[in-house]
Order: sequence, then structure tokens, then C-alpha cells
Amino acid sequence: MAGSSQTWWRRASCFADPAAEIRFALLFSCFVAPDPSVPPFLPVLPSHLAVNTLKGLPAQGSHHNRRWRKQLPRPAIPQRVMLWTCIASLLWPARCAACNAFVPEGRAFCEACDLTVLPIGRACPTCAMPLDRGGACRGCRQRPLPFAAAHAALAYGAATTSALLRWKHGGHRHIAPVLAAYFAPLLALAVEQGADLACPVPLHPSRLRRRGFNQALDLLRSAQRRSRPCDLAISCDALERTVDTPALGHEPPRRRREIVAGAFAVRCPESVAGKHVLVVDDVMTTGATLAECARVLLQAGARAVSVAALARTV
Ligand SMILES: [Zn+2]
Ligand SMILES: [Zn+2]
Repeated sequence: MAGSSQTWWRRASCFADPAAEIRFALLFSCFVAPDPSVPPFLPVLPSHLAVNTLKGLPAQGSHHNRRWRKQLPRPAIPQRVMLWTCIASLLWPARCAACNAFVPEGRAFCEACDLTVLPIGRACPTCAMPLDRGGACRGCRQRPLPFAAAHAALAYGAATTSALLRWKHGGHRHIAPVLAAYFAPLLALAVEQGADLACPVPLHPSRLRRRGFNQALDLLRSAQRRSRPCDLAISCDALERTVDTPALGHEPPRRRREIVAGAFAVRCPESVAGKHVLVVDDVMTTGATLAECARVLLQAGARAVSVAALARTV
């Protein structure tokens, strides 16, 4: 019976894209069924009958129905929010963060791009470089970075790079919450490890004016929304960039350290004194920028500095 009704729906459907059809059905169900847990494709009933039948309550008139409805438990997601979510997904369907192809709701990348998104698994605890064994890497043993811990979610390259470039330089700020899904576990991990204040790597005011947003702050806020209830205080103004440094591009590590030396300052030392600060950036390359931020924070009295980046060059 279910099969035949599906066939009927398929024949009657004017949607070429099955995803659009499901979105339409969800939207339609919001108008018909007062409970969001009611799946689409149910017979269309007047709303009071739908409530009473589905909840096993006696079907009564609208006056009684209002009274019953008040006694029903409130759904986890308010119906109004769900309605707007359905309308938004109908008007702005989900797209791949890297190539802009249509994707199913809730997915960051299309199947082809997803194959090239590589999570960083086991890594050096102080520079987040992937390692196939435990302990620090050779570089950190020779020249330790001033981090209590370093974490990165993804390897920089392929679809991850495309998504980051579209977000930072293409102005597609809606990509931040999508990528924050990969970053949120790192935020929870940092909280577990004792971080009590998060600072995004600041942009120089002139670059902030040109770009219009700080991508590290966008990432941090989006990830924090996802990882509640483990709230972490965010300070946007504890750190400041006092020198408008040029893009580091493909500069060698020593040159990178020279460029960023003295480029940061702590604006409010009292806000970081005695705190374990988590410094957040979108990309970690050699760690020179994050190390300079850590140096000034430790100088200003921070108890420890950990760093976290969405992507890391490997
Ligand atoms: Zn794609
Ligand atoms: Zn290392």
C-alpha cells in the first residue's frame, strides 16, 4: 500500500529533483500537521483531527482540541523555527562548500569533493602535523613551539582549500557554519584540556575593512554555537594586529617568523592574565603566526596557550 501511494506521488510529482520534492513535502507538512514529528505523505487531515488521531486522543471539536493541544508536550524544535527552516531550505537549497553543486541537506561537500577532504588523525601534540606514531615530531623536538597543545581538523588541500578560498576571498560567509562542523570537536577538546578563553587571530584593521569579516572569529562563533553546552568565552579584542603584514604565501619558515615578529600585541592584559587561552585560526602552515600570538599572550601573563586551526598544511 505504501509502495502504491509512493508510485502515485511519484507520477503526480512535478519535481525533477527528488531533494526538492522532499523539501516541498516537509514544507507542506508544516502547514498541515501541527506536530513537526508527523512525517510527510500522511493523508491530509484537518489539523485538529491530525493532532488527536496521532496522539491517540479522542477526536473532538475545535474548542476541546485547543484545550488538548495546550496539554501536549512542546516539540524539541518549535514549529515556527521548523517552518522557517523548511522555507529557507526550499529557497536556498544546500550546496557543496567547495564546488557549489547541490547537496542533500546537512552535508558540507558533494560526494566527489568529500573524497578529497582528509581529516587529520593522529598528530604531533604541539604542531598538529600528522604522525603515524605517538609523541612529538622531529621538528618540535628540535625547536619546540610555545603551545600547550595544537589541534587541526583537516589537511589543507583539494576541496578544503577551495572551500576556504570561497569563504575568505569569495565572500561566501555562509560556508563558516558548514566548516565549523569539522572544527567544533576541537573546541570541545580544548575545553576538556582546560582552555577557558578563546581568541581568534586578529586581522589588521585595514584588512578587516577590506574583507569585512574576520574568518577566524566567524569560525569560532559558528563552532561555539554547535558545541554548546560546553561554552567557552570568546575575546575579540584581547589580541590586536599592530602591523599589516603581507600575505605569507609560500615564504620559507624562517622568513615567515621574521615577517610576523612584533606584529601582534595584547590590548587587554588583565583579560588574559592567569588564563589558558585558545588561539584560533582558519589555516595553520608552519605555526609562525600562532607562535607569535602565543608569545605575546604568555608575556602578558597567560597561564598557557593552546592553538586550533580548521586546516593544516601537511
Ligand atoms: Zn563539491
Ligand atoms: Zn610537531
